[in-house]
Amino acid sequence: MEKKAFKTESKKMLDMMINSIYTHKEIFLRELISNASDAIDKRAFRALTESSLGLDRSEYKIEIIRNKEENTITIRDNGCGMTQDELENNLGTIAKSGSLDFKNENGKQDGIDIIGQFGVGFYSAFMVSDKITVKSRAIGTDCAYVWESEGADGYTIAPCDYASFGSEIVLHIKPDTEEEKYSEFLDEYRIRELIKKYSDYIRYPIVMNVEKTRLIKNESEDAENANSDAPKYETYEDTDTLNSMVPIWHKSSDEVTEEEYASFYREKFYDYEAPAKVIRSKTEGTFTYETLLFIPKRAPYNYYSKDFEKGLQLYSAGVMIMEKCADLLPDYFNFVKGLVDSEDLSLNISREMLQHDHQLKAIAKSVEKKIKNELLKMLENDREKYEEFFKEFGSQLKYGIYSDFGKHKDVLQDLLMFKSSEEKKYVTLKEYVSRMKEEQKSIYYACGDSVDLVDMLPKTEAVKAKGYEVLYLTENIDEFALRTLMKYDDKEFINVCDDKLDISTDEEKEQLKAENESAAELLAFMKESIGEASVTAVKFTNTLKDHPVCLSSEGGISTEMEKVLSQMPGSENAPKAETVLEINGAHAVATTLKGLFATGEKEKVASYAKILYTMARLISGLPVENPTELSNMICDLM
Ligand code: ADP
Ligand code: MG
Repeated sequence: MEKKAFKTESKKMLDMMINSIYTHKEIFLRELISNASDAIDKRAFRALTESSLGLDRSEYKIEIIRNKEENTITIRDNGCGMTQDELENNLGTIAKSGSLDFKNENGKQDGIDIIGQFGVGFYSAFMVSDKITVKSRAIGTDCAYVWESEGADGYTIAPCDYASFGSEIVLHIKPDTEEEKYSEFLDEYRIRELIKKYSDYIRYPIVMNVEKTRLIKNESEDAENANSDAPKYETYEDTDTLNSMVPIWHKSSDEVTEEEYASFYREKFYDYEAPAKVIRSKTEGTFTYETLLFIPKRAPYNYYSKDFEKGLQLYSAGVMIMEKCADLLPDYFNFVKGLVDSEDLSLNISREMLQHDHQLKAIAKSVEKKIKNELLKMLENDREKYEEFFKEFGSQLKYGIYSDFGKHKDVLQDLLMFKSSEEKKYVTLKEYVSRMKEEQKSIYYACGDSVDLVDMLPKTEAVKAKGYEVLYLTENIDEFALRTLMKYDDKEFINVCDDKLDISTDEEKEQLKAENESAAELLAFMKESIGEASVTAVKFTNTLKDHPVCLSSEGGISTEMEKVLSQMPGSENAPKAETVLEINGAHAVATTLKGLFATGEKEKVASYAKILYTMARLISGLPVENPTELSNMICDLM
């Protein structure tokens, strides 16, 4: 039986290829520039052994020529060129990479960073062209060939004249359509932008003729005429190099000034301020990569909006592959900007993704570690700067603790800071623990809308009076973060308003227990009057110095957490705090209540209970449940 080869529908193949592997049409320029750079690398490599084929290092270049009349862009290089066979094999066959063959034959060479490997980059030019003409003359040969194709229908090859070694690729740009303005690829600013974005660190100059204007010098230098005429300008052509060639992260550290880092950062990451910190590193081994990271001074304007995207730029051998690689940054460090560059990345065909997840994971892990260490160093050596940083991005770190059930607490807990009762200044958990009282077992915190409000809470005062420091939690996320941590250095976090708060002596506890037991009927009556839905219990307390009442909570949800949860969307079923109304046993109100209850004036006890409960809510920063009733009760009293 005759065996037949599968026939591929080449037109469909090419269409599919061109339109499905790339997300952005603009990358065609990156691909052609990379090919030109590869070609020059190959020529330089050949010249190592056949010096007559080479050029002086300074003569290698890639030219971009725009022709608006003809609607063409030409990319010209003085690299290795292609023979007739090579044109046939490399451009005539989809997915055939002469560059990959070259790498396989010659191995990894110092100073040669061949970029190509998939044999599809060239075809990306069909996204913007309806015809491509390639003229090429291979090094060491006398004849040149022209390859031409309108895409899917095939290609032609014929001899032609071409003066020097190298290639030129002429793209006949498609006419504009409603959706796509192809003609903009002929604009100087657009080409400059694309080269800066993708090909800034190609190691050979990318040059382009551009139009400039200059002042015409006044030939007749006599003083009388000099002022009378308005200044005249003329336009002239000049050749500009569009790329910087040497990436800033390839220069040795002592060669780059702080100002250079800052202007690089501002330009590439669109900030108007210099970064707070520059972090640079190189990891060498089987998998080599460099990182250049920046911690911004301020959060970008869209930081808290949905369209903020985290991520680092990803470069492969100096060519930008991805603008925002999100997998390289954990969410809690999402404010970090910067880039990773590696020659060893295995990329997928469109260079828009990495092929191997474990490479990314390894880089991400070391990026995380570097950021953490750098922040800890800043905390240690430049407290002021760290506090500035923390004001800007601290919530993100706290959010990081809270999310993923505390999986990242080891990374983050030592980066946290809270204001505290000590000096109302920021304190780290480590600092707090280091100055704890000898007999103190737990870390105390209190919550409220501002440092001053928290400072005035009756329970805060009580704990302070014992000589214990109290952390002041004023952001919504704060208590959630500490509850996720549960402990620091084996010390439990305790909300001063939690009924777990235990700062009394054994003797005081005994006394209190007796007092509560003897007033059990009164307390139960008060609880009933206020309503079971509002309070779980009413108790006497001995921790309240001069204050008559306060609220505390039992169980997992504090009143502060209840407040936060009730503000979230869909909060109807949000869990509520189990609230306890605490009454200062040593206060005059306690005596009054006991007296009234003993003489059977229950109605008064009931309304006093409600008034005390409302007062306690106000002190905790909670809304009044029934303002009209409260107002009536107060009027009755008067
Ligand atoms: P890749 O660059 O991934 O190999 P391309 O489709 O971009 O794939 O290019 C295919 C091949 O064509 C390259 O491997 C190279 O051998 C050849 N080629 C493309 N452009 C040039 C050029 N300007 N000079 C010499 N050879 C080139
Ligand atoms: Mg290529």
